[in-house]
Amino acid sequence: MRSGVEIWVEYEKAEKLQQVLSTIKSSTFVHFNDETINSADIVGIFKAGTMADYTKRRNGSYQCKFREWHEKGQKCECDQVKDREMAIKREHAIKQCTRGCTGGFKLTTGNSAVFCECVANL
Ligand SMILES: [Zn+2]
Ligand SMILES: [Zn+2]
Repeated sequence: MRSGVEIWVEYEKAEKLQQVLSTIKSSTFVHFNDETINSADIVGIFKAGTMADYTKRRNGSYQCKFREWHEKGQKCECDQVKDREMAIKREHAIKQCTRGCTGGFKLTTGNSAVFCECVANL
């Protein structure tokens, strides 16, 4: 996407423009939304979400594997955040557990420990 003017329109209008553009064989001026645009200058018609993502990326932000946005230079710490969230969830589940486990573990006959149901499905 090269830089240019961004025109924000409602979905219906964008759809109409899309229809007009699809009938054009070579670049021409299109009257649209009270403006006249050279169709050659139209880079594309994008959804608001796509544009928002694009703007963020242009500003240096990036989306990590957890689909969270981070600013330029900001380290992704979602791993730790998710770990912490998980730890809190675990702790809570163990506190609520009615199966009498110890820290989310149960002893089986044979003295090996298995995850208790309270934490197995978190
Ligand atoms: Zn992250
Ligand atoms: Zn339990």
